[in-house]
Amino acid sequence: MTAPEPSAAPPKRERQRRVRELEVVVARVRRETADTTSLFFAADEPFEYEAGHFCTIDPHQFPVLKHFIAHLEDLKGNREKPRAYSLGSAPHEEHVLITIKEETYSSGETPYPPLLSPLLANHTPVGTCLVINGFTGAYTLPRDAAERIDQLVHVCAGSGIVPNLGLIKSSLHRNDPFRHTLLYSSKTRQDIIYYQDFEELQRQYPDKVEVIHCLTREEPAGLRGARRGRITRELLQEVIADPARALAFTCGPGITPYERKAARDKGEEPAPRFVENMVALLHEAGLDRKQVKQESWG
Ligand SMILES: Cc1cc2nc3c(=O)[nH]c(=O)nc-3n(C[C@H](O)[C@H](O)[C@H](O)COP(=O)(O)OP(=O)(O)OC[C@H]3O[C@@H](n4cnc5c(N)ncnc54)[C@H](O)[C@@H]3O)c2cc1C
Repeated sequence: MTAPEPSAAPPKRERQRRVRELEVVVARVRRETADTTSLFFAADEPFEYEAGHFCTIDPHQFPVLKHFIAHLEDLKGNREKPRAYSLGSAPHEEHVLITIKEETYSSGETPYPPLLSPLLANHTPVGTCLVINGFTGAYTLPRDAAERIDQLVHVCAGSGIVPNLGLIKSSLHRNDPFRHTLLYSSKTRQDIIYYQDFEELQRQYPDKVEVIHCLTREEPAGLRGARRGRITRELLQEVIADPARALAFTCGPGITPYERKAARDKGEEPAPRFVENMVALLHEAGLDRKQVKQESWG
């Protein structure tokens, strides 16, 4: 049994110092949904990170991508950057877990085909060796959370669930004195990532974990406590017992840098996506800026 980790984020300088290159091997692969896959990494040295951190993976390390990368770099006029992946694992666990959603190419809609996610989601069997850089990020629990909150509210969509699984497991392992309420938006039952993990956590910690699945494209038949439709202000108000004693973590699709630039070029504001909408609703539900943490990607 490992000792519980301290419940707090270290100062920025300390976080940056810990980011380094690590050689890992894929110890386990788990298909989560039709388009998401989890990879469990093992390494010869201990992993040092906080729940909610992410790692990065440089696509240049995969020889099979060599010509594809060269072509994309010619087209884009930039070197392809490492891609970030949140950790779904908690520091007390043996493996580091990342969960990859395979991006797709839609003719006429996406300017380029996705580079790294199809490879990670489909062609990294057990035994694959790779280099990751980690670990960092600000989507972590504040040091004094246990003193000032009674409820951690997780508001997630799609692969945005990944860091919140790590945050919840880590907090339960530490026996933090607050409850977790997860509102998780998915299109259909088949799109829910980590369904069994959350069933198990609710079974183990019935007084500390409540999960409400929100399905946007079908009736949630047979899903205990699930709702039909998007996450609304009314639902947030229903589940947040005392906004003054709550902290929210919201993660999911957000405005991408490409969308921001395209809107700026047209002199327009980019259209808000899941995370921007949820931050606004959380404020309407009574949480101030300091009570809402957010992370988003495409
Ligand atoms: C902090 C953080 C955590 C993340 N965690 C996760 C996670 O847990 N799981 C997960 O699946 N993903 C996560 N992501 C997203 C991940 O980093 C990748 O962006 C994702 O996997 C897609 O990478 P790709 O190489 O497959 O696609 P890319 O090659 O990056 O393409 C993705 C999309 O961007 C468009 N695009 C690419 N380049 C340009 C350009 N120059 N101009 C215009 N459009 C362009 C493409 O057409 C495509 O639609 C995270 C991102 C961040 C920032």
